[in-house]
Formats: sequence, structure tokens, C-alpha cells
Amino acid sequence: MTQSIQELFAQNVVPSYGRFDLVLERGEGSYVWDANGKRYLDLGGGIAVCSLGHANAEIADALNEQARKLVHVSNLYYTEPQGRLAKRIVDLIAPGRVFFCNSGAEANEGLFKLARKVGQDSQRFEIITATNSFHGRTLAGIAATGQEKIKKGFDPPVAGFKHVPFNDLAAMREAITRSTIAILIEPVQGESGITIATAQYLSGLRALCDQHGLLLLFDEVQAGHFRTGKFQSWQRILEKEDVDLVPDAVAMAKSLGGGFPMGAFWVRERFGEVLSAGSHATTFGGTPLACAVALKIFEVIERDRLAENARSLGAFIRERLRKVVGDVVREVRGLGLMIGIEFQSQFDAIDVVKRLHERGVLTVPAGNSVIRLLPPLNLSREEAEEGLRAIESVVVDLART
Ligand SMILES: *Cc1c(COP(=O)(O)O)cnc(C)c1O
Repeated sequence: MTQSIQELFAQNVVPSYGRFDLVLERGEGSYVWDANGKRYLDLGGGIAVCSLGHANAEIADALNEQARKLVHVSNLYYTEPQGRLAKRIVDLIAPGRVFFCNSGAEANEGLFKLARKVGQDSQRFEIITATNSFHGRTLAGIAATGQEKIKKGFDPPVAGFKHVPFNDLAAMREAITRSTIAILIEPVQGESGITIATAQYLSGLRALCDQHGLLLLFDEVQAGHFRTGKFQSWQRILEKEDVDLVPDAVAMAKSLGGGFPMGAFWVRERFGEVLSAGSHATTFGGTPLACAVALKIFEVIERDRLAENARSLGAFIRERLRKVVGDVVREVRGLGLMIGIEFQSQFDAIDVVKRLHERGVLTVPAGNSVIRLLPPLNLSREEAEEGLRAIESVVVDLART
């Protein structure tokens, strides 16, 4: 079975992904089963997507109910779920507007177009981003991404992006020119291995943007949606500070639809009408079906206090993992249920992930030596302990090699 499915891929699917040797067939809560019936605890959550776990019954019901009512009509018309969902997001950030799309890359594209439109009259177009960032795989997305390996082979790059070291305010200040219109960062860098912006960096960026008339853009595609214990990760990073930072626009996707593909960006009221009628669009953005699912996810997260769960369970997991820091594990980082375990450089992340597969646990590699935990927000304490035991046993094994 597994082999014949892999054969179908080998012959028919674009080989742009390095896939693990697993064919996954069904899921339930925090678990998935492969084609051989083996069970795995999914601590990767489909890369921070399955916010309520797999095959969630309430999501399935919301999907089913809305599918029998109205799936799609296009943005030529108004639909109630999109309006309600936009209000939900605005209420959780600050006065502004929301645009709906279908992925994280598209949400970031919206931010780029917003910034360019704002800068058009003053001939400013440049967007400064951070090294080791990740902003998606479209042409502008790879230009914005501060990683050479992602750009390679796709020259010439989209003009107007440059990168400076993350968490380095002085470097950012230096990089600003007369052409600069915006700064874009992930408040918690995900793909490159979970690196958290400092509160001083975030408030420093806001001050820089105010001083130079730039837009402050946050890519919360991976870190957002209550994963860190607040709606968006910058809100969590700054919760203890005496600053009320409001960015100018925020990109979202991944957990927003819990597995139903959708993205969105919020833009601050001041720039809320920059993308006027006819200036930006997508056929599938904000369908009643997608929005009904996202509204259900908001409802469940609030009702079941899952932001608090992400916060306390994340702290519990990190505390346990800190005990294995040593010859094998170099560092444990994270915020809420966004956790990076950095191994010493002689250990390869892919190898660690495969060893965890043998023990029935799924995680996500990042860079050469980091594995990420991005589990469902409703992960239980018992499940977390099961995952920790597997990780601890891999560490013991690696210490012997
Ligand atoms: C995943 C991710 C993206 C790209 O999202 P897609 O839905 O894959 O297009 C962009 N930014 C960040 C921070 C991400 O983690």
C-alpha cells in the first residue's frame, strides 16, 4: 500500500518536496495513523495549521452545515460569515480592515502591495526584512525571504527587498534609505528555527517607522492565532511591557482555518482604504465556507481557553526539555506552543525527526539542527508527556552515538 502510493507520487507529483517515508491516512485529535495502522502523536500540527487537531468534529459540523447552505459566491457580493470574521479579527487587534485570501504567501503579497501603494506618490517602494526570515514562495515572497537557498534558481529577483540581521535595531536603522516604505518581520521567526524578537526590538521598530514614515508589517502566519498564548505573537512578547504597540498591517494564515486553506491580512484604520475597489482581489478569498470554519475555530479556542492551554502547556514542555540540554541538545526556545529544540551541530534535524517517527511522534525540522513543535492548541498534558518521553529517549540514544 505505502509503496504503491509512493509510486504514484514518484511518477505524477512535482518532486518539489522532500517527503518522509510515511503515508498518512486518517487522524483524530492530536493523533494520525499511517497506511500500516501505526499511530503517531502529531506535535507538528501540519506545520502550525491544525489548531484544533485532526478531524475535529465541530469543524466538520460547521463545514458541513455551511456547505449545505452556501459555499461560494465570489466577492461581487456580501456574505455574513466574512463580515463577522473580519470584525472578530479587528476586535482582537485594533481598529482597521481585513482582506481575505488563501495562504500565507498571498497574505504577505497583500502587505507588499499595500506598502507599494502607500509609497507610490513619494516614489518609495523598498521593504526591509530580516535575515533567516520566511515569507512564502511566490516571487515577491522569496525576494522578501532572507534565506539564499529559497531564492536560488529563480533570478532575477523581484526588486525592492533587502535583509538585515534580526533583533538588531541599529542594522535596521542603518538600512533605511529614501526609497524605504516598510519594515516586515516575523515577531517569532518560524522556519529558521524559532527565534523570538525582543520587546525592545519591536518597540524600537515601531519608533523607527514612526520617525521615518514607514509601515510596520508583521508576518504572523506561523506564530499567530493564539499559539503563543495571545492572539498574535507580538501581543504576547509585549504583554509585560508598558507599550501598546499597533503595527500597520499583519499577515495571517496557517492556524486561521485549522486545515481549511485560508489566509488574511489586517490593516490599520489609517491605511484601511489604501487598497480601494479594483486594486486587489482574489476569487476564493473569504468564502462563506472558509469563514464559517474560521469563526467556529475562534469560538472553540475562546470557549475552551486554548490560549491559556498553549501558554501553560508550552511552559511545561520547555521546562522539561531544558533538563535535557547538554551534549546532545544545545538550546530550547519558544513561546507557548511554538517550540524549537536546537541540537548540537553534529546532529542532523532530519535524522532526529526520523528517530521520533520510529517512536510514534511527528515533529517538523527547521534549518540543519532544529526540530519544531507546533502541536494543536488543544493538546493535553498526557499527550505532551507522551511526546516528551519520546524526545527524551531519542536524546538518550543520541548521547550514545
Ligand atoms: C508558512 C509561512 C508562510 C507561507 O505560508 P503559505 O500558506 O505556505 O503560503 C509565510 N510566512 C511565514 C512566517 C510562514 O510560516
